[in-house]
Amino acid sequence: MKIRENVPISELTTMRLGGAARYVLEIEKEEDIPDAYNFAKEKNLPVFVLGGGANTIGHDEGFDGVIITNKMLGIALVGDKLTAQGGEVWDDVVAFTTERNLTGIEALSKIPGSAGAAPVQNIGAYGQDVSDTFVSARVYDTKDGEFKTLEKDDFKFSYRKSILNTEEKGRYFVISVTLELHVGKMNRPFYNSIERYIEKTGATDFSPAGIRKIVSEIRADKLPDPAVHASSGSFFKNVYLNEEEAKAAEEKGYPVYHGHDGLKINSGWLIEQAGFSGKTLHGMYVNPKAALVLINESAKSYEDLACARAEIIEKVFRDFGYRLEQEPVEIL
Ligand SMILES: Cc1cc2nc3c(=O)[nH]c(=O)nc-3n(C[C@H](O)[C@H](O)[C@H](O)COP(=O)(O)OP(=O)(O)OC[C@H]3O[C@@H](n4cnc5c(N)ncnc54)[C@H](O)[C@@H]3O)c2cc1C
Repeated sequence: MKIRENVPISELTTMRLGGAARYVLEIEKEEDIPDAYNFAKEKNLPVFVLGGGANTIGHDEGFDGVIITNKMLGIALVGDKLTAQGGEVWDDVVAFTTERNLTGIEALSKIPGSAGAAPVQNIGAYGQDVSDTFVSARVYDTKDGEFKTLEKDDFKFSYRKSILNTEEKGRYFVISVTLELHVGKMNRPFYNSIERYIEKTGATDFSPAGIRKIVSEIRADKLPDPAVHASSGSFFKNVYLNEEEAKAAEEKGYPVYHGHDGLKINSGWLIEQAGFSGKTLHGMYVNPKAALVLINESAKSYEDLACARAEIIEKVFRDFGYRLEQEPVEIL
């Protein structure tokens, strides 16, 4: 296990904000995990588990605690079951599958971050969620210090949610994830923006590798590359509505999307209509191509981000009556 001290959280997270974490422990093998939690216990310090930091934001005062990060690597395919160690880069896992003509996660191409974090908020994009192919995860349970296998149903997956970011937040360290994939293709009609891309470009390759290429191109055009622009991707969750709320929204002329996962209004649309698209607030640039993405152009502190967030939430609430919820988690 590698131990580092006083590591700036701004260097560990894609939003690039936050002061120093007192310790960062890198897990290289399973036996390191109990040692890492004991290290924190002995020092009476809180623990935060971090992957690639693509959905996590640091505070200005840093973290007087222990960040534990999964650096275990390896991808194994046995029959139609793929097991990826949690330290693998998620997009490398997707590439591994599309190179083998396996369908199931090709639309999740280019989502930044680690495989271990994929089930935490049930990552999703372009009509696929990781829960669609999820079988199980090997975890370390901090409650009783045991290594366990959690099955898909244990996770209680829904939109950007699982037990790992709700009722059992902080309890499990994800060691590896197992997915079930098969040789084949996604069925049409594809997600709206994929269909629009096909119409525009005349693309005809809908194999897993073909969809990966299409999704990669759509994302490259719309979303910031974390290597270049600091962001956490979607900063706000979309607004999910029940039938009654959706009817009321449609009567007001709001675009309600009837997706496979429910009725929703794209938060990007609300932010755009509220007049923020392309504007910079306290150093945070509202991406004009996807307004729910905030890019840290020149914000100097978490406080700047908090001011920009408050302005957007308040105006959207005033204009539409929906209170936007933040997607990224914070290291506290
Ligand atoms: C440009 C950009 C685009 C994005 N696009 C999408 C998108 O299309 N769809 C989408 O769903 N998300 C998207 N995201 C968000 C992000 O990529 C995902 O949430 C991803 O799963 C984060 O992975 P990570 O390893 O960086 O997690 P981190 O940010 O490090 O951690 C996220 C959460 O997972 C927990 N965690 C991490 N690793 C483990 C582990 N091994 N065991 C237990 N808990 C763990 C952390 O404690 C934290 O609560 C985007 C982000 C960016 C920057």
